[in-house]
Amino acid sequence: MDKWQHTLKKTISFAGIGLHSGKAVKLAVKPAEPNTGIRFIRTDLDDNVVIPASLFRVADTRLATTLAHEDIQVSTTEHLLAALAGMGIDNAEIELDGDEVPIMDGSAAPFVHVLKKAGRQRQKSTRLMLKITSPIEIKNGESCIRIEPCDGFKVSGEIDFDHDLVQKQSFSIEVDNQNFIKEIASARTFGFLHEVEYLRQNGKALGGSLDNAIVIDRSEILNREGLRFSDEFVRHKILDLIGDMALLGCPLLGHITAKRSGHAQHLLLMEAIADNPEKWQFVRWTHKGEESVLEKVVMGTRAAGNKILPYFVPPRVIPIAGGAALPA
Ligand SMILES: [Zn+2]
Repeated sequence: MDKWQHTLKKTISFAGIGLHSGKAVKLAVKPAEPNTGIRFIRTDLDDNVVIPASLFRVADTRLATTLAHEDIQVSTTEHLLAALAGMGIDNAEIELDGDEVPIMDGSAAPFVHVLKKAGRQRQKSTRLMLKITSPIEIKNGESCIRIEPCDGFKVSGEIDFDHDLVQKQSFSIEVDNQNFIKEIASARTFGFLHEVEYLRQNGKALGGSLDNAIVIDRSEILNREGLRFSDEFVRHKILDLIGDMALLGCPLLGHITAKRSGHAQHLLLMEAIADNPEKWQFVRWTHKGEESVLEKVVMGTRAAGNKILPYFVPPRVIPIAGGAALPA
């Protein structure tokens, strides 16, 4: 895993619609200083509101992962966060003029494509990584999610749907830039037609179409172009998981096995990690030593209350150029 923190070489922009809101939204991803982490900035309000990409800011996990500062939200964050994590971007500011990240084609590929063109900028600070040292497991109904020690970041996913076209699928991947781009980034979100109709009646999935989701009827896939992978469904679940785990605020060294899990279980796992600091440690590559030498970082917070947060979330008041100083 890369020793140095990275940001983007230049600002990139996107325009699209929100999957659930159906509203048009413009978004820019800008380079940021080392140790900023990833943060969302709503630019359509009287004051710019900053919402750090942190598990402690998750407000809703139904349908998508929604972050919030009080009643100001940013929804459907997972595909863009997966693209940034998958491309090894540690620090970035995401400005958007609406409450939902555009869905693009339902995958992370459009984000990855533009990120690749912009390029990564190496920064002068080394990365802090969260290294799992003992397994943590959460069982929740029929779903089970577990993380165990591993030298890199590995994800194994399994889905089991009662539908002939989906059924049981499993996929396992060592997550690095190349593998992420090749195997995961272009897997699209999916839904069953009867669910889509129900969601529409309830004011959700208003932006959903065959251009941004795989839609499955009783016996067929409605998208004329078919699937991008025969097991695209489980690959997309892994994409969602990578995007959600980015809310830990730093790269993970561990192997996650997720069975029939979704955003809610991903959050439960992150909360369990935060609550069990004896099962992980922060490590970083040493500045001068061999690249393979990891240095254990002794953290004040571990004794004090075991929160990951202070290291990755900016100070409590963030001055924004052109806006008021806001509580974080
Ligand atoms: Zn998704």
